Amino acid sequence: KREDVPVSVHGIDPTLVDQRALDVVETLQRGGYQAYIVGGAVRDLLLGLKPKDFDVATDATPEQVKGLFRRAFIIGRRFRIVHVVFGRGRQDRGLSEVIEVSTFRAHLDSADAEQVSGNERTSKNALAGMTHAVDASGRVLRDNVWGPIEHDAARRDFSINAMYYDPQTQVVVDFHHGIRDAKKRVLRMIGDPATRYREDPVRIIRAVRFGAKLSALGFKFDAKTREPLQSSRSLLADVPQSRLFDEMLKLLQTGHALASVEQLKATGLATGIYPLLDVVVQRADEPFVKLALQDTDRRVGENKPVAPSFLLACVLWADVRAGWDKRQANGEQAFAALQDAVDDAFNARIGDVSGRGKLGTDMREIWTMQPRFDRRTGSSVFSLVEQPRFRAGFDFLRLRAQTGEVDEELAHWWETFSTASDAVRRDMVDAVR
Ligand code: ATP
Ligand code: MG
Repeated sequence: KREDVPVSVHGIDPTLVDQRALDVVETLQRGGYQAYIVGGAVRDLLLGLKPKDFDVATDATPEQVKGLFRRAFIIGRRFRIVHVVFGRGRQDRGLSEVIEVSTFRAHLDSADAEQVSGNERTSKNALAGMTHAVDASGRVLRDNVWGPIEHDAARRDFSINAMYYDPQTQVVVDFHHGIRDAKKRVLRMIGDPATRYREDPVRIIRAVRFGAKLSALGFKFDAKTREPLQSSRSLLADVPQSRLFDEMLKLLQTGHALASVEQLKATGLATGIYPLLDVVVQRADEPFVKLALQDTDRRVGENKPVAPSFLLACVLWADVRAGWDKRQANGEQAFAALQDAVDDAFNARIGDVSGRGKLGTDMREIWTMQPRFDRRTGSSVFSLVEQPRFRAGFDFLRLRAQTGEVDEELAHWWETFSTASDAVRRDMVDAVR
């Protein structure tokens, strides 16, 4: 059912395609391989959105791809791909400097796999070094069996995410009516949705994410795609916490945080995906958290960086504040009480993920900086603005001012102080005394 759709039908503007992605496709094709831009970039181009990144799919193996480029690295184990690296570590136009190249993969369902040992099964058809493994519940553990392009299409999640664009001929290769669904504004899972959620429960969260992102364009779920979402939720218990944490951040940091919260509620997934996400949904209507989510969406829309530490510090601030007040009421010193309240909040809400060093350190710094903003005298004022995390702490203070938790004047003072010359700074501190 392969359909080769010409530009007169799909209307993709070829000038919107990233130059580096063009280079990669061209190099692969000149090397005698098939190569296409694939996945989210084709979807976004088709819908007139600016793609976040450009991925390439090819029939060349990772080793063959690596051989064609000067700076290319094979990464991943569960899913081996090649990173072709451009530039020298600088972000250009907000696009990543890496083009991800993946080899066409076979779509094998759990019936193709045989029991090998314990709860892991490996495909009968697996070629040497290219394995496909599923666990007892049908979850895919490794996915490195190469296959023809039509198999690669069938193992993708949504029909609109499974199209292949050849920038040379400007043809979109479509196996699952992606073009039709894009026109009809339908988000449809390829194959039997319940089975696909079982194979990889993270697709449940992806459904929410794309539902949220595309709701602004009028997209609706296909009924069969939506119906098993809620009942499949328990499958997420088997997914590693770190992967759930990352997916949660994608829901919150790809510019559609508020829409994602709405989508979670609308699909019956307001709770039960990930504990910290439950808290976000629960508090999304509280002014402080709502502002933080809006602020995040706005920043992403303006191509500005967003830090997970900032958003999570906002979400858990109510816990820290409550604990801080309580400990002070029990006679603890203000700063010690804050430190202990922060520990309590980490223990209660973050658990294992607090092992992600930097995230936890940054959250702690944002919180413990807050009482320092109250003191506007002495030399510590000058050292505070020089701290690398001052900006994050100050942005946090500003949100607190916006919701009336602290005086607007305080936030304004720090804003002025942080951008002022040394002479003006000294004068400002003198004026406070
Ligand atoms: P975004 O714009 O948010 O990056 P995307 O569609 O590019 O969206 P990616 O996570 O970058 O999403 O994945 C790239 C492509 O890989 C998808 O478009 C889809 O075809 C396929 N894919 C990714 N994750 C899965 C999954 N869990 N199951 C099936 N296909 C997947
Ligand atoms: Mg992508």
